[in-house]
Amino acid sequence: MSSPSPTSAAAGLNLAQQEAVNYLHGPCLVLAGAGSGKTRVITHKIGRLIQAGLKPEQVAAITFTNKAAAEMRERARSLIGKQAKGVLICTFHALGVRMLRQDGQVLDLKPQFSILDSDDVTSILKDAGGSTDAATVRQWQWTISRWKNMGLNAAAAEAQASGDEERVIARIMARYEERLTAYQSVDFDDLIGLPLKLLREHESVRNKWQQSLGHVLVDEYQDTNVTQYEVLKLLVGMRGRFTAVGDDDQSIYGWRGATLDNLRRLPQDYPNLKVVKLEQNYRSTSAILRAANNVIGPNPKLYPKTLFSELGEGEPVRVVDCDSEEHEAERVVARIQSLRAGTELQAVGSQFKEWKDFCVLYRANHMAKPFEKAFRKAQIPYKVSGGQSFFDRAEIKDLCCWLRLLVNNNDDPAFMRAVTTPKRGIGHTTLAALGNFASQYRLSLFEALFSNSLGSVLPAKAVGSLHEFGRYVNDLEYRARKTMGTQDSRAFLSDWLKDIDYEKHLYDGEDSDKLAAARWTNVMEFCDWMALRCGGHRDDTSGAVVETEKKSMLEVVQTIALLSTMSEREGEKNVVTLSTLHAAKGLEWPHVVLAGCVEGLLPFKLDDDDGSNADSIAQRLQEERRLMYVGITRAQRTLAVNWLRKRKKGRTLIAGVPSRFIAEMALDQATLKEDPREKIKALRAEFAKKSLAARAAAAAYPL
Ligand code: ATP
Ligand code: MG
Repeated sequence: MSSPSPTSAAAGLNLAQQEAVNYLHGPCLVLAGAGSGKTRVITHKIGRLIQAGLKPEQVAAITFTNKAAAEMRERARSLIGKQAKGVLICTFHALGVRMLRQDGQVLDLKPQFSILDSDDVTSILKDAGGSTDAATVRQWQWTISRWKNMGLNAAAAEAQASGDEERVIARIMARYEERLTAYQSVDFDDLIGLPLKLLREHESVRNKWQQSLGHVLVDEYQDTNVTQYEVLKLLVGMRGRFTAVGDDDQSIYGWRGATLDNLRRLPQDYPNLKVVKLEQNYRSTSAILRAANNVIGPNPKLYPKTLFSELGEGEPVRVVDCDSEEHEAERVVARIQSLRAGTELQAVGSQFKEWKDFCVLYRANHMAKPFEKAFRKAQIPYKVSGGQSFFDRAEIKDLCCWLRLLVNNNDDPAFMRAVTTPKRGIGHTTLAALGNFASQYRLSLFEALFSNSLGSVLPAKAVGSLHEFGRYVNDLEYRARKTMGTQDSRAFLSDWLKDIDYEKHLYDGEDSDKLAAARWTNVMEFCDWMALRCGGHRDDTSGAVVETEKKSMLEVVQTIALLSTMSEREGEKNVVTLSTLHAAKGLEWPHVVLAGCVEGLLPFKLDDDDGSNADSIAQRLQEERRLMYVGITRAQRTLAVNWLRKRKKGRTLIAGVPSRFIAEMALDQATLKEDPREKIKALRAEFAKKSLAARAAAAAYPL
């Protein structure tokens, strides 16, 4: 089993990569900088493990996003063909769903449980905690999520609470948990926390999973949190057959509970851990890589690393100063156009001139707007990733709630949305009475609706309307269960939307027909996509739908809560990408623009009056620096770093100070159009005059 793969070298793996790919029988950590082929190791190792005798179903590869999982599935398919289909390639959350659907009964969770989104959680918390103040509720949500990510339940959270405020939140958490149990629902954190509980407390389930998985591979390991690591440990058991790949310099989800301790702990928890380091970067030119290495230099290192490129020096990194956000967008348009025309850079040659070869990265979602406007004007096709998810749109949520209710009648949040959207003459008083009745008798709203004694608290007319709704949901559920495959589902969806008159609902609810039409287009797109997921795909040449393995509509509904982005629409692939830095992790483009590199945006504001101490500010700065490193290292051939002389802060315009990371890139001054340090000096002087806060910010900027 341990003979090296004859195909490794031919398939394009260097010696260190081959070492990692061929190490099959114990724990392995590949620790290396950006673009060094870590993800490639995972994909090849999937093939190697199967070649060595594991069944595809015994191999699990865990990625950070659904999109990364889809890409890995595709790459695995081109390496090992049909067998790739059996391999479990998914995110930790999707793995959690699978575990809970299979084994959740031992935790009293029905297989058809619902997955609540952030809005559902907010409204349950408002109710459980008795507050409508958005900021307060958000604070509860964050705290509860943090506790869950630390593996604490409400009782444990209360026991360790540091003050009255935390004790109150722990009690709200207890009520929140009760409601989730009643609704047969879980939140996103539960998708990791409950599988952990399953594995920890139920030996038979643990044995089953350990025996069924021969090897677990984890990409982006540096961004796992405490509970994910515990899940991994219990999945692989004493044998520790896993491969984790990661880069401590790219840990950018600390704010969501990811911890580098997981990297620190690996060698302690697995003394026989094999650590493989990769040193060659295959992605970027030397100029780009040098800038990246210079930026990350000041950050403390968990493990020392060196990275080199053999792609040549390449084009110098450009620092571009822009007057305003609008001006920046114009300059990016001009840059894309001239790179495509080949007038700007000789060295880039005729390659990399498709729209898809370009990407603009920024720190915060709202920064996409000026680019979208300028791209539309210049007729540049683009997509925005990492922004508002398709599933966050009101119309899509409406439909998802209806579908959730069909799968899980106990899902009260879904019930509330479905019964009121579109309006069907069931008012708040009726619903409040139904709610009281349900909680008095410990029933779900749906169960309460059919109770014989409901007539004692509601007039006959109201009961009649509720019954009508209940019967319709039952009928729809029956139809959805019978629906098999794409064509059936299409018919089901269209009948249902007609039944509830959803198009009219959209037009009635919007002032402008244009907006309503846009919403309706989204609905159509959603239906098309859902129908395809029921077992069809589109033929690349004819565009016709080919049905493959047919699934029922109800089965598909159970998978949608996890998808944060829809699969790319057809014909949309050759487009410029606009993306947040966070969403760009693991990806690469020939030409990258880092937009809005000014103090306050990147690094993001560090000096807000939230009582942060110097330590936590220093840590946040380190995470911002890693974000810059991630941004720079997405670029393969050219990189432009923009900064703004003036930027919007709220409604006012303020002077922009070039990001300290620009100076840290230590670019050859001759390559700069203007020396940012001169600007910084001038701006610092101007700033210093203005306010104490500005003086502090300027002083924090090291020249
Ligand atoms: P990141 O840290 O950004 O996630 P990574 O370490 O996962 O990066 P990959 O995405 O696997 O790196 O690889 C970066 C690029 O280098 C890809 O285009 C990949 O195909 C290429 N590459 C990786 N290894 C080799 C190799 N041995 N020979 C040729 N190209 C390679
Ligand atoms: Mg990667």
